[in-house]
Amino acid sequence: MRYGFGIDVGGTTIKIAFFEKDGTMRDKWEIPTRTENGGVNVLPDIAASVREYLDRENIPNSDIIGLGIGVPGPVSDAGIVNKCVNLGWGITDLHGELSVLTGFGVKGGNDANVAALGECWKGGGQGAENMVMATLGTGVGGGIVVGGKLIAGFHGAGGEIGHITMDTTETEACGCGKYGCAEQYCSATGVVRMAKRYLASHDTPSVLRDKDFECKDVFAAATAGDQAAKEILEQVYEILGRFLASISCVADPEVIVLGGGVSKAGQMLIDGATKYFHKYAFHACRSTRITLATLGNDAGAYGAFKLAVDEFCK
Ligand SMILES: [Zn+2]
Repeated sequence: MRYGFGIDVGGTTIKIAFFEKDGTMRDKWEIPTRTENGGVNVLPDIAASVREYLDRENIPNSDIIGLGIGVPGPVSDAGIVNKCVNLGWGITDLHGELSVLTGFGVKGGNDANVAALGECWKGGGQGAENMVMATLGTGVGGGIVVGGKLIAGFHGAGGEIGHITMDTTETEACGCGKYGCAEQYCSATGVVRMAKRYLASHDTPSVLRDKDFECKDVFAAATAGDQAAKEILEQVYEILGRFLASISCVADPEVIVLGGGVSKAGQMLIDGATKYFHKYAFHACRSTRITLATLGNDAGAYGAFKLAVDEFCK
């Protein structure tokens, strides 16, 4: 067995990648996610695309290790998906259904966790056996790798770090219904929310005033010397560093990888988070490196294929 597939299922597109056993990506492509009718077409569409590829490339089934797949919902070790709102799925037997459709072994996981495994294998955490990834996007997701293995947890909610409570005095609700979750401060929407709140309660002049702005505009303003933007980001860094230090007390990673849209801020984000990480981290894990994700949108495909390798090449 020399090859396999890593599949990353999103709400609008499904990314499929074909890998050599050592994790070299040979090919990748996308197909649309057809979520209508309770998402009944999603798995058959994947199976058809995989079949078509193998036929076109003349690759025999006996060369295939299996399929790894990440989906946007909680997945148990046995491959049972406990609802995927973005795909329209109810409780779904991911391993069973996709195995029957393709004839190959299937190993699935939550998409954020799988992306973390990808970054640990071939990205920002390469070489580390213990790693935490925080994806700072529209929300905050994550994944925790300990001893080279993902922590899925009892409910499949392991790595849902975005909903760690960071501020018990918060008056606005998080999307999850709680108050003061990390993603209310450290996501792209969180940074904008923090900025608006700061501008409403301070008189400091700022280029951000009286206009619509996005997360990246706050970083750009700070880089250009805007005092208000600098102070806003200082608040973000303080919460982010404290957040990562708290996670380190549980997982004690060798490296923390930051991904998602906010991480496009680059080194200034790493420096800001590291400054407060050092302030709040327990002394024994203060030397943990914080670094940027490197695989971008391919992290999920890499991690999904790694799941299949770990499952079927024991
Ligand atoms: Zn929350």
